Amino acid sequence: MTVSVKNTSDEELMEKGELLPIVEDFYTIQGEGYHTGKAAYFIRIGGCDVGCSWCDSKVSWNPDVHPLVSTNDVIKRASEYPAKAVVVTGGEPLMYNLDYLCRGLKDKDIQTFIETSGSHPFSGEWDWVCLSPKKQSPPLEEFYSKADELKVIIMNEEDLQWAEENAEKVNHDCLLYLQPEWSHFKTIIPVLVDYVKQHPKWLISLQSHKFMRIP
Ligand code: SF4
Repeated sequence: MTVSVKNTSDEELMEKGELLPIVEDFYTIQGEGYHTGKAAYFIRIGGCDVGCSWCDSKVSWNPDVHPLVSTNDVIKRASEYPAKAVVVTGGEPLMYNLDYLCRGLKDKDIQTFIETSGSHPFSGEWDWVCLSPKKQSPPLEEFYSKADELKVIIMNEEDLQWAEENAEKVNHDCLLYLQPEWSHFKTIIPVLVDYVKQHPKWLISLQSHKFMRIP
């Protein structure tokens, strides 16, 4: 079911998480972080108020231009692929209550992974939380203890300080990734290589899907 007009009942269904503004959902390979190289179904939810200058998903920012889609339909599509893993991303997916989505995925024995800036309240049941903190809209404190992976996007050397400030707050077993911002890749990757050699608690994450030219 795709709904183009938002009315009171749509808003109620959105509050329950039974309707979500979906930018796109598709089967691909995770390109970043710990799950790099694994097949997964991606659900990109519309809406983000974080405003990163280098965002490569600006099309997702305004939720009103994306159709409201039945969460059950998305779950059904996700369940039709061989990899029983879903990556929920955005936008900032936690602008919405994701309890309903996660329950439906879990009912189908699908693993749930989320990519979030942590700037909105936590919801859902997740097998993997990738926290990607942004300076202009920092994570709520509750996210630091929930993160399985901290992924900090590095555009310049000053961002390394931000990365360290966040690394001090996560659990000791949280994986730590520095990821070069794509449009500054050539200038920043040598900095990251040197930095990780000196600070080996960090790993480098590359946006390998962009090298593979897949979504
Ligand atoms: Fe883009 Fe993510 Fe930043 Fe939102 S939080 S502006 S979707 S990079």
